[in-house]
Amino acid sequence: MKKGSEPSENRAAFPRIDLHTHSVFCDGKNTPEEMVRAAIERRMEVIGICVHSHTPHDESYCASLAGMRDFLTEMRRLKEKYAGRIRVLAGAEQDLFSDADISDFDYAIGSVHYLKLGGTYYEVDHSADYFRETVEKRFGGDYNAFAEQYFEEVSTVLAVTKADVVGHLDLLTIFNEGGKLFDEGDPRYLKAAKACIDRLIPYGKPFEINTGAMHRGYRTGPYPSPALRSYIREKGGCFLLSSDAHSADRLMYGFEAFQEAADEAAYGWLDGWN
Ligand SMILES: [Zn+2]
Ligand SMILES: [Zn+2]
Repeated sequence: MKKGSEPSENRAAFPRIDLHTHSVFCDGKNTPEEMVRAAIERRMEVIGICVHSHTPHDESYCASLAGMRDFLTEMRRLKEKYAGRIRVLAGAEQDLFSDADISDFDYAIGSVHYLKLGGTYYEVDHSADYFRETVEKRFGGDYNAFAEQYFEEVSTVLAVTKADVVGHLDLLTIFNEGGKLFDEGDPRYLKAAKACIDRLIPYGKPFEINTGAMHRGYRTGPYPSPALRSYIREKGGCFLLSSDAHSADRLMYGFEAFQEAADEAAYGWLDGWN
């Protein structure tokens, strides 16, 4: 959009596209329309607003199945209202354990938010204390064992959700700034993470560089870690930039710092969409 209006504003610098944002239809703070207006103010080309798809075992953060339909209705209204000013897309952040049919959505981000152990779901990103307790209780304090289970689940996320994008690949590091809980360089950890990447690469889908933990104050860098980004690159994977914004003031958060990492190819699947 806006092409030619500002010659100094080079489209190639980084795509003014954010596909991972949330609204009041799940656990976000702003309405979709407020998000769209903020995106226009930031001269964005595309705003994708996602709803956390329904997970029957935990309805605290996600939309209900009816709420997901209401969300789509509102998004259709916004697409029409703002047509010609910005491209508005309706996304689903499809959890591995969601029971929602998302065939009417424009796209999906496939994410793992829980470890399922013996019929019980453990939130990966609830709190540092909860995370530590889970590792103690279920894995005898062995963080690598937790990671092995986690990455095993993530390795199935595209097959199960049929998503277009791999969401926050190493979400389990959210409380691990500075390696304070576990060593992300441990051979067992890296082996599990790389095996997961090996299984996702053949789908040809982009991985997110997700700055969500940065603007929440948990991490100084995005997901995935530099080591995992290198490995994804080595294997021929590509990246798009996501803020995981839960409020309008976090749209495109930190994108400038990672613009070099974003691949034009990772956005190619958007072409031809309305
Ligand atoms: Zn998520
Ligand atoms: Zn999200």
